[in-house]
Amino acid sequence: MTHEWLSVAVALLPPVGLWAAYPRRPAAASAIFAAALAAGAALLVSAPEAGRAGAALTAAWGIAGSALSWRLARRRETEQSGLVERLASVRVQRERMAEELRGLKARGLNAELAHREATALYGMVKSLSEAMSWEEARPRVEGALEQYFGPRVEYALYVAGLRGEGEVRPLAVRGLRASPGAAWATLERLMQEQGATAASPRAFEKPERSVGVPIKEGQELLGYLYARVPEGADASAWLAKTQSFVSELGVAFRRVKLFQEVERLSEIDGLTGVRRRGAFDKKIAEELVRAKTFKTTFGLMLLDIDHFKSLNDRYGHPFGDQVLKRIGVVLNSLVYDTDFVARYGGEEFAIVLPRAEPAGALRKAEAIRAAIEAELFSVGFEELRVTISIGVSHFPRDASTPEELIARADAALYSAKAGGRNRVVDSDALRRTN
Ligand code: GH3
Ligand code: MG
Ligand code: MG
Repeated sequence: MTHEWLSVAVALLPPVGLWAAYPRRPAAASAIFAAALAAGAALLVSAPEAGRAGAALTAAWGIAGSALSWRLARRRETEQSGLVERLASVRVQRERMAEELRGLKARGLNAELAHREATALYGMVKSLSEAMSWEEARPRVEGALEQYFGPRVEYALYVAGLRGEGEVRPLAVRGLRASPGAAWATLERLMQEQGATAASPRAFEKPERSVGVPIKEGQELLGYLYARVPEGADASAWLAKTQSFVSELGVAFRRVKLFQEVERLSEIDGLTGVRRRGAFDKKIAEELVRAKTFKTTFGLMLLDIDHFKSLNDRYGHPFGDQVLKRIGVVLNSLVYDTDFVARYGGEEFAIVLPRAEPAGALRKAEAIRAAIEAELFSVGFEELRVTISIGVSHFPRDASTPEELIARADAALYSAKAGGRNRVVDSDALRRTN
């Protein structure tokens, strides 16, 4: 009877092992395998002579079947742990990729920043290369400074020799309240106190964190850029950044300075196209010497636009400039090549008429007055006329020095104004009426 029960148990062990393998129960499966070994052996021992072959078969079934279940359970276990491992490695990889992405983003941000700075520099160099005066250059540099250093930058930009050698003047100042950098005199004192000079770049700790960088060409100091270091920024990095900016600025500064120099050296007034005051002063002195030497004569006219101030006030300075320009063209076109037209002051012109007789000079003056009066100036939809007053003097009739000759023409001009404007007054007539 025991033998029969043992046979049934051994025969049932493989399905039980299979149950243990699904789901994974390797410990149960191995216990079942062990039980199958023991029960199989007991079955063989307890089997009667005749049932030996049957018992061996049952034992073999039980042992082989539960061994298979045990293997299956083990395989499932390794599969599962492999899966867990793979999952962990995927997680690590994801972390690494996220890290890489963060790095890329940061680098992209840096690249964008560098790009913005480069654009600011390039834009500045380009727009400054078109500037011919400091007036034109100022807003362009201001824009570039803001774009390059950020909208909250506080700085003072100085130009050396803006009006005369050795003089340093501010071109643009932003922020810098209560800062020594806001005025060149206090900035110079600061440098002196700290044993620095304007000739080399420098970071200051006191009285505020700031940097100062000279704008130089060779040994020549063209200007100086002083800038506050923003809160949280590294002073030496800020100094390096300022130096890159300034290195581009130097070329542009040199150009503007050269333009100014050429302008100064040129005899032609940029706005009106007639000679400048300096050229006039030379011309009248020369003409006087010539006239004296060769016993010839010449006439001098001083012209002044009537009520020019109210014209400016009413239509704006640019329109005033247009009028000045047009009058310059008209004057140039009305005189002989040998005559000499100059801008004497803001809205005053002077004309030297070599070899002119007094009557000829007066006729010419009257023709000029009439021509200007006939000229139509348009502003918007409006058209208007401009008149001038003219004072005439003559050499040798009125004077023997340039100063005296000019004074006589000026007095005549004054009289023309007093007499109601838009008229010509001869210095000789003035003398006779006085
Ligand atoms: P008057 O008839 O007495 O000469 O009157 P006025 O207004 O012309 O005389 P005044 O000398 O008081 O004014 C001259 C004005 O000319 C003042 C100044 O603003 C203007 N002016 C001088 N130079 C320039 C210039 O280059 N461009 C312009 N647009 N205006 C100028
Ligand atoms: Mg005037
Ligand atoms: Mg005037």
